[in-house]
Amino acid sequence: MDKKMEQAQQIEAGRLAEAFRLFNRASEDLAGAYTSLQEQVAGLTAELALANGRLKREYEEKTALNERLALLLDALPAGVAVLDAMGRVEQANPAAACILGADIDGRVWEEFILTCLKPTATPGEWEMTHGQCRRVAVSETRLASSGGRLVLIHDVTETHRMKTQSARNERLAAMGEMAAGLAHQVRTPLAAALLYAGALENPRLPEKERTRCGARVVERLQHMEHLIRDMLTFARGEVTGGESMPVSALLAEAAQVFEPLARRREVGFVVSDDSLGAAVSGNRKALCSALVNLMENALDACTAGGCPPGKPSGRIQLSAQSVRGEVCFRVRDNGRGMDAATQARLFEPFFTTRADGTGLGLAIARGVVRAHGGAIDVESEPDAGAVFSLTLPACAGLHEPKQEPERRALCLSR
Ligand code: ADP
Repeated sequence: MDKKMEQAQQIEAGRLAEAFRLFNRASEDLAGAYTSLQEQVAGLTAELALANGRLKREYEEKTALNERLALLLDALPAGVAVLDAMGRVEQANPAAACILGADIDGRVWEEFILTCLKPTATPGEWEMTHGQCRRVAVSETRLASSGGRLVLIHDVTETHRMKTQSARNERLAAMGEMAAGLAHQVRTPLAAALLYAGALENPRLPEKERTRCGARVVERLQHMEHLIRDMLTFARGEVTGGESMPVSALLAEAAQVFEPLARRREVGFVVSDDSLGAAVSGNRKALCSALVNLMENALDACTAGGCPPGKPSGRIQLSAQSVRGEVCFRVRDNGRGMDAATQARLFEPFFTTRADGTGLGLAIARGVVRAHGGAIDVESEPDAGAVFSLTLPACAGLHEPKQEPERRALCLSR
């Protein structure tokens, strides 16, 4: 019995020892975990302090930036307005209120524009309808983050006034130059007319001579009349009126005016139309006159002793071609052509190499073409003829270009 009890006590002591051993290991593990936890907390605390420091710095920087921006906005001479996604003014600087003459905070921008501003001929520029007559330039930028817009408002009243003044001064200077040129141009035919008219006063002048002098007076006066008419066309500058016209109709009209002149001077004349049904828009009469003027010059270059040796028969071609939204009219001749020095001065008012020329034809033609948004150009060499190209924007709409080229010879002289 005692032995059994002794055995049981031994077993119990063994279990207890094992339990102590397990307990010791568990407390060691716990102590280890606690230490690593403490280390992690220390690490996280350090990271947090770092992040806090960074955030504080960023906050301070942002505050300083805000302050600077606010100062900048207040000091800016241009008006700045921030619109929300609904187009309502969220914020506006003092310059915006000063330029617009009203507090626009909280107002719907589009509604404000309608009541206080009216558009001008210059895109993006408006005139104030109230108060002083001021002009403002308004531009907008989308704000991707908020869906709103940033509106910039500039007072361009003074700039506009200076621009208008400078354009006026330029016009006056050009007119002054032209007046001097005209006086110079008029002097010669006037002196000649006076000379012939003086001769007519002589009662003993033979009848034949009297008739000749009379004809000369009329001729010189006609030249002066021509000069003054061209001068007026040039001085008016702008071409008014705008109608859409098929290119083929314009070609036919110019050809109809010119064909009898070519026939009379025995010069070959051909018209070819590759306009594919395109149309141009503008002043029909002015465009037709510009084309006829180019052809009259070509006629002069082919005749008037102009045709180069070895090329006895003059030929003039009027053509039109439609290419990528543009129409190119060409007047080609096989006349005397011209050197580079003449080409450089061609479009100068009063530049002429003809005894009876006014030197205004090409200056007027260029003015007309420019007023229609086009350009005029020349290619030529001495004794190798000349090609004048007149390019105009084709107008969209009524006359859609045809797919198939329609090449036609409209008229042929000789
Ligand atoms: P004008 O015909 O009164 O002389 P323009 O301005 O029409 O005035 O022409 C200026 C000058 O350009 C002409 O005098 C001539 O010398 C030159 N010119 C114009 N067209 C041609 C041409 N097709 N061939 C050669 N010279 C030309």
